[in-house]
Amino acid sequence: MAVLVDRDADDNMALVTMAAQFVTPDALRFLMRNACGYVYLALTAERCAQLGLDFVDLNDSLIRPPATVTIEAREGISTGIGLADQAHSIAVAIDPTKGREAIVLGGHVNPLRARPGGVLERAGWTEGSIDLARAAGLLPAAILCEIHNDDGSATQGADVTMFCRRHRLPMITIAEVIAHRQRTDKLVNREVETTLPTAFGEFMAVGYRSLLDGSHHLALVKGEVRGKADVLVHVHRSCRSGDIFHSITCRCGESVHAALAAIDVEGMGALVYLAEDDDALHRAQMDEQPWRDFGVAAQILVDLGLSSIRLLTNQRHDIPGLAGYRLTVSDHVPLRVPGDSPAARAR
Ligand SMILES: [Zn+2]
Repeated sequence: MAVLVDRDADDNMALVTMAAQFVTPDALRFLMRNACGYVYLALTAERCAQLGLDFVDLNDSLIRPPATVTIEAREGISTGIGLADQAHSIAVAIDPTKGREAIVLGGHVNPLRARPGGVLERAGWTEGSIDLARAAGLLPAAILCEIHNDDGSATQGADVTMFCRRHRLPMITIAEVIAHRQRTDKLVNREVETTLPTAFGEFMAVGYRSLLDGSHHLALVKGEVRGKADVLVHVHRSCRSGDIFHSITCRCGESVHAALAAIDVEGMGALVYLAEDDDALHRAQMDEQPWRDFGVAAQILVDLGLSSIRLLTNQRHDIPGLAGYRLTVSDHVPLRVPGDSPAARAR
């Protein structure tokens, strides 16, 4: 068992998780007595489809993952309520040799459906718990139980740390699970490259395809960067309104131009242009999780042969587990955007 929190124990929720294949009546008893929360069974979308589970997307947020009808094993149980019955129902629900016919709808096990891309698609507890089980080489299914206080309120902050200490459980953040997968999964594939003459000189344009969602990312490379140290790099998330239409509500278009100009002056460097489908959604994510896309950018930079970079940026973010990317940020270089002053930013 481990305690899974969002970014740290100060966040609003902490859940105990364990690989579903290790569930026993004793484990369920521990959760009911000590975590005092509702017990869920996190399943992959693929397994949910095999079991014929229909989901209701009540509120597609991090807090409320898609809920479905409860289930139970068709055979081998009595009322289904007892802990031995629940453990048996869970074992049947995750058994890859058993299908829809092995369960009945309406029971005492509460399934949750994870997104196919796991935490790289949705930074939620359902996805995090399954990714942990998968990373351990186990069946991709996990038990989740919110930790509650005796008065029924959610356990938070230092109390979560106390809970972990009392029960000798390790704590892991969803951010750490994301960082692990960004390091270990192959996220992009190099598809195409061509020369691209621009107003900022000639660049090599290298196209990458995301293996996660099929979106296309681009790297604009100047000079022979492979094997070089301290290469000047800017990472830009596409923003249709700013990049193309020069919306004055953001500085995205000017930032791209300033970065290309800086790389041109340097004579060598790379700009990684990350695709993004939904600008508004993405900005909201950026504010909360500025490191979310770093795995994709890092893998593109490593593919280009870089090992240490000087990052052109005006924001200094802590990137969790950076060392694992085989890429070091040796320096942060301010990105000088023309006309960018506190007054301009306030516009
Ligand atoms: Zn923008």
